[in-house]
Amino acid sequence: MGTHLLRAYLSSESTRKIKPAIKARILQEFNSVQSVLRAPDLLEQVLGNAELSRRIWLELLDLRLSHVFDDESPRFLGCSCIAQAHWCDLKAIFTSLCKEYGFKAAYDQDVLLQGERPTIEDYNRLLSERLAHADNVGFTLEAIETSRGRVSWDWETGRIVQEGIPDPRIRGELIEAHRAEQYPQIRFHFGFMDKIIIGVPDGITDEFCYEFKSTQNEFLHWYVLPVAKSQASLYAYFLKRPRIRIQIHILDTDEVKTVVQEADYAQTEAELTRFVELLSGQREAIPPRRWKCGKCEFQKYCNVSR
Ligand code: SF4
Repeated sequence: MGTHLLRAYLSSESTRKIKPAIKARILQEFNSVQSVLRAPDLLEQVLGNAELSRRIWLELLDLRLSHVFDDESPRFLGCSCIAQAHWCDLKAIFTSLCKEYGFKAAYDQDVLLQGERPTIEDYNRLLSERLAHADNVGFTLEAIETSRGRVSWDWETGRIVQEGIPDPRIRGELIEAHRAEQYPQIRFHFGFMDKIIIGVPDGITDEFCYEFKSTQNEFLHWYVLPVAKSQASLYAYFLKRPRIRIQIHILDTDEVKTVVQEADYAQTEAELTRFVELLSGQREAIPPRRWKCGKCEFQKYCNVSR
């Protein structure tokens, strides 16, 4: 499915200089644009040129995001992307298309240690081992720097210091390292319909799955909360924990709001099914409140924001 989009790209001006034999090889190895996006290493191997491979990958990503329902749906999905549907269905779809290669790489790595179909018992054993060795608990970051800004932790005030324009996701990472409760963590994968779902809970105990998020203010917290609940519920559904525990840090007030509730497996399963149908275009995406489009990185591709 979806070969026509890949064929159209390989006939375009942009690939004029690529030898026909290489194009034939690409069509032999890949059957959709999404299958190329999912395997950047294989693309580089076929082309034998890292720079060209990077250019083609980026052009194909641009093409793919412009034809959301006209190619193969991603097969490897992250719980963090699925939960974003509570912010905006379309953003969750765009993010899943962009990030599939990362989840596939994580899956490939984990399969070596965990096997293709690990059970909940396997993960429980892994968690006990982590707890016994205190692995992955108590991790603390001091500062994170990017090209646009820097965030660091001030030990005296117990708050973060921002310089320049730090990426909110990077800022969130630092806040999480200092303010989140510490529990053992693992990365897991489970099959659902024809997908592989990958998750990395912020913490797991026998009783609950934990998710920590930070947001700028009280108003936004009401929109981040459903995303966090959905993410924790996905973890609880797959790892069969009876409860979810959510904490949202509000940057303006330095307050941490905590929500604990029973996991609803039936609702999570319905959400997962809905998302798989959304990805393939079988179900229509619901447009979000317009203000959410203001800073969205997918505006260029999205009809709703026009
Ligand atoms: S531009 Fe708006 S509708 Fe489109 S993906 Fe972004 S938030 Fe969603």
